Amino acid sequence: MALSLSKKKYTKACRSIVGGVNSPVRAFTAVGTEPLVIEKAKGAYLYDVDSNRYIDYITSWGALILGHARSVITKSINKATVNGTSYGLSSEPEYELAELIKKAFPSIELLRLVNSGTEATMSTVRLARGYTGRNKIIKFEGCYHGHSDSLLVKAGSGVATFSVPGTAGVPASIAAETLIASYNDIETVRLLVKKYGKDIACIIVEPIAANMGVIPPKKGFLQELRNIADQIKAVLIFDEVISGFRVALGGAQKLYNIKPDLTMLGKIVGGGLPVGVFGGKREIMEYLTPLGPVYQAGTLSGNPVVASAGVAVLKYLIQNKPYSKLNKRTCELIAGFREVFQRANIDVQINQIGSMFTVFFSKDTVTDYVTASQSDTLKYAVFFKHMLKSGVLLPPSQFETAFLSIAHADHDIQKTLEAVEAFTR
Ligand SMILES: *Cc1c(COP(=O)(O)O)cnc(C)c1O
Repeated sequence: MALSLSKKKYTKACRSIVGGVNSPVRAFTAVGTEPLVIEKAKGAYLYDVDSNRYIDYITSWGALILGHARSVITKSINKATVNGTSYGLSSEPEYELAELIKKAFPSIELLRLVNSGTEATMSTVRLARGYTGRNKIIKFEGCYHGHSDSLLVKAGSGVATFSVPGTAGVPASIAAETLIASYNDIETVRLLVKKYGKDIACIIVEPIAANMGVIPPKKGFLQELRNIADQIKAVLIFDEVISGFRVALGGAQKLYNIKPDLTMLGKIVGGGLPVGVFGGKREIMEYLTPLGPVYQAGTLSGNPVVASAGVAVLKYLIQNKPYSKLNKRTCELIAGFREVFQRANIDVQINQIGSMFTVFFSKDTVTDYVTASQSDTLKYAVFFKHMLKSGVLLPPSQFETAFLSIAHADHDIQKTLEAVEAFTR
């Protein structure tokens, strides 16, 4: 497998783009290898500029549940662009997308469309603060909610792979308003509530953690958060940027039957174009301008092309309900992984929910950030590189989630398992 053109183009890009990438995880730093430069993608496959083909388990970080370049999406995008790419005013695709989202998420009474998950979470936290008149927020170690100042404290995803305690550039005074609890450990939340109860504006959580690898919530954990938020009159926020439309049409809140006050969506909802959504209780959402005092805006928010792509993907999901099939195929893959690793006596923990999974190189169950970070990241890097050479693209970090799309077929699963088998030999 040659990567000479990728290497050449990446090296050249480093002269104009910081680190040669527009999002740090693409630099493959955590697995110590040269990044890929992609030429095109179709279905379950990515093709790099050296014409190597990869079975893609990144799928644009979970955004592409229908796989790459699915015709229902590309057609709707092409059709939309004929009528213009942006109006700076309202249009019908936005209304249609909003209706489809509301139907799938009963907790969302009103919503706003924005341009990224980061923007959605940033605005949601501001809204929670404006609504409650309080400043402090509780977030969980290893959960990632985009890169706004308040939320970059002990965040997962790419932040987990760089040796900084959060990030430079966030004033200590802002970080001090972010209180950190341990995922799946309700006692750590209770301690914070005891000390700061009346100052806490919101509890923000990934209901299924997916930015320290996949970590499902323990039984009762989300319900306890609901109870505590009610007790202290704080806003409960579910960040479903990954889990929304991924684990079920109604996301993790449907799966676990917990109603948050506010929800963020992103990734899948844009059909591969930049998007974010936040919404929830009418009473809280009406605090936003032009109805209320909390300011939030966006030149390209609700963009008609993005909204058309979103409508296409949601309609497809609603009509075809691919979830049980996706789940079954992922279970087959995971069962294969388990068997191969067991036979080779390699300690792994495989966490899975629906079409999301992570292979942790660890002896012990992974339930939070501390147990996730005990994994053997060097071994993961070796595994990643082996799989890449075999034409299988896993997330380039132990702390990212792998995703299947409906384009991943049985023969892709077979090929993936053969590559794992070869790794253990
Ligand atoms: C990806 C992600 C975000 C940020 O979304 P961007 O579109 O990358 O800004 C926020 N929250 C979660 C849970 C995510 O996975």
